[in-house]
Order: sequence, then C-alpha cells, then structure tokens
Amino acid sequence: MTRRNILKTALAAPPAALLADTPAGDRPCAASKPMKIRKVEALHLEQPLKERFWMANSLIGGYHPKASRLIVTIHTDAGITGHGEGGGGGANILRKGFADLVIGEDPFMVGRIWEKMFAVTYSREPSSRGWSQGEVISAMAPIDAAIYDIMAKSAGLPVYKFLGAYRDAVPAYVTGGYYREGKGIPDLVQEVRGYLDQGYNAIKLKVGGISGGYSVEDDYQRAKAVRQAIGPHCRLMLDANQGWDLESAIRASNRMYDLDITWLEEPLRWYDDVEPLKQLKLNTRIPLASGEHELTRWGARRLMETGAIDVMQYDCNAHCGITEWRKIAGMASMCYIKMAPHHEPVLHGHLLASVPNGYILESFANPDRDPFFFELYDRKPRIEKSVLYLDNTPGFGVEFNQKALAKYGTKVL
Ligand SMILES: [Mg+2]
Repeated sequence: MTRRNILKTALAAPPAALLADTPAGDRPCAASKPMKIRKVEALHLEQPLKERFWMANSLIGGYHPKASRLIVTIHTDAGITGHGEGGGGGANILRKGFADLVIGEDPFMVGRIWEKMFAVTYSREPSSRGWSQGEVISAMAPIDAAIYDIMAKSAGLPVYKFLGAYRDAVPAYVTGGYYREGKGIPDLVQEVRGYLDQGYNAIKLKVGGISGGYSVEDDYQRAKAVRQAIGPHCRLMLDANQGWDLESAIRASNRMYDLDITWLEEPLRWYDDVEPLKQLKLNTRIPLASGEHELTRWGARRLMETGAIDVMQYDCNAHCGITEWRKIAGMASMCYIKMAPHHEPVLHGHLLASVPNGYILESFANPDRDPFFFELYDRKPRIEKSVLYLDNTPGFGVEFNQKALAKYGTKVL
C-alpha cells in the first residue's frame, strides 16, 4: 500500500471505528477544561561578585561585577504555578506591561504565546511602549520556561520527560581558568586541581586575552600547564570569548593542537564571528563551538550553515526560551552538530536530556563566580562526578531558598 493510500484509508475511517478496540481510559477526552494564565509575578535578583573574573576582553558581571537573575512566576486558574529563570535582562519591560501579553492564555498553547511575544520584536510596540527589542528577547526566556514548568507539572512529569526524554543523566563540565588579577599559572593549576578533587572530568579554560597582555604563546603555556595538571583523560575545552582575529585564531588553534582540545569556543572577534569560521575550519584540526550570543534560530541557522561549527551553544536562559532552543537543537541534529548550551545547568540539563544530540552541560564549581547556583536553591538536580542527574520531580525539580530570594530579590511584578 502506498503512503497516499494509507492516508486515504485512515481519513475515510470513522472515528468510532478507530476507537473500537481502545479501552475507555485511553480514549481522547475532550472534556478537559483549558487552563488559563491568571497572574505573572517577577523577582529580579542581584548580588556583587567578590572577585573580578576576566574573560578575553571583558569582566564577568560587568564593570561593577555582579551576578543577576530574573525569576518569573506564572499562576494559572488550575492552581498550578510555574517558575522560569532568566539571565536577569527584561525586568524593565515587565514593569511596563510586557507580561500582560500572556494573561488569559492557555499555557499548553505555548507555541502561540511564543509567537505573540516574538511578534513584538518586529512591530511598533517597543517604540510606543518603551520596550527594547533586546529586553523582549531576554524576558521571553523566563516566561517561556515558566510555561514549560506549568505544562510539565500539569502532566505530573519532570520537564525532560515532558519533552520526550532521551536520557536521565547528562555529562557536565566545569568552567574556570579565568584571568584573575594578581594570579599566575601556579594559581591556575591549583584551581583546576580543585575541580578534579570535586570529581570533574571535563574543564573549560579561558584564552584569547591578547588585549589583556596574554599572547597566543602565553595562553599555550597556561593551557599546557592545565593539561599537565589534569592528565590525559580529562577533557579540556578552550573559550576565547571572541578575543582573537582570524590569523591569531588559526595560529592559536594549531599551537594548542597537541594538548588534545575537545573544542575551541568563540574564537573570533564579535564584529565578524561567523563567516571567517569557514577559513578557520579549513586551517584547524580542533572542533569549533559557538552560538551563545545568537538571539534566535535564524542567527543560529546562519552559524550552522557555515559548516564550521561542531558544537552549538545557544542559551535559552538568556534568549527566547525553551521553544526556540528545541527548534535549534532539531536543526543541529540534521547538521550533525551537538548541543552544549551556555550556562544555567538547571534549565539546560532538562533540555540536553531531551534530545539525542545533547552533548555536555556547562556547570559551575566556584561560589565566588556563580553565587546564585549555590545559594538560590533548597533543591536542584544533583551534579556528581561530572554528571547531572535528573529525577522524577514534576517541572524543573527545583525549590528556591526563600531566604536567598528575600535577601537578593527585588519585586518587579
Ligand atoms: Mg563562552
């Protein structure tokens, strides 16, 4: 039978006949009442960092370094409440009515809600209401995540299973090896030994600091010291944070090759960091990673279409939310690109567990660098020996520490 005939037969069959052998409990129930979003609350959290952590050209947390977070809580008329976390951006537009867009919507119509929010970015609304496009992209992330939390809780499932899970444990690496003022290679080696002591078997080191006085050779010596300290069986990734021009990136990637580098991340300067990746790809044997700065799936598509990246790092904690991440992961799988999203292990852990091309999760081991990851939760997915474990708790499986919320949070909505 041809595919067309199969479809014809299926369409011709009356619904009652299709259900003839189906137990009553398995039959679709049209009686369930659509849920509605009743209220949105938001909390903006901020705390200063104790130390200055330099990437290639810029500081973690800005000129006055601080950690920030935006937690959106969405209440429904069914009594189910969802929480979504974002990187901190977007609080301003929540104060100016952006969250009204989702009031009255059915959270299970998340595709429609997402499009409604995104449509703002190509309309007059930002100009007429004092919203910026960037803030819309940022605010969409925690709102979309909170909606997935609601849907998963409503189904009684953890988010990764609600999305159609592929695994329940995800490999994790630790990011460290920042340029730290007054600290040299012995301090760097001591730091990475601390990660090994915590059981990590994959470590990412910052490179690319030419504008801070670190030549390619200086970075090679730093990376070499780290490789010697961690031994041959620990993965080592390098993140240049857009610090190099093309020539330096080619030179650096070849110099670093003997250190068995798992990937080189964001090697090229911000103003032209996509097209020249093709030239870099032709001149390096190290896999390339990028994508944490992409705002949408169209930007991510442009990056993947270069054929130059092996690892896609789209961050749906910062941009656009889970709905967009899943589309990008789908295209990545068709391009044989693995997903290794930037930051926020709680959210991205569920997503990596839900796709076959989920590669490895970024995580943190230094409370001075990422204090909220350590202070914000009474309960969160467990990371042990470089693996994040997910359980069957409905939703994201987190419980916030109320004292931390009170201490660092400012009510936005
Ligand atoms: Mg990075």
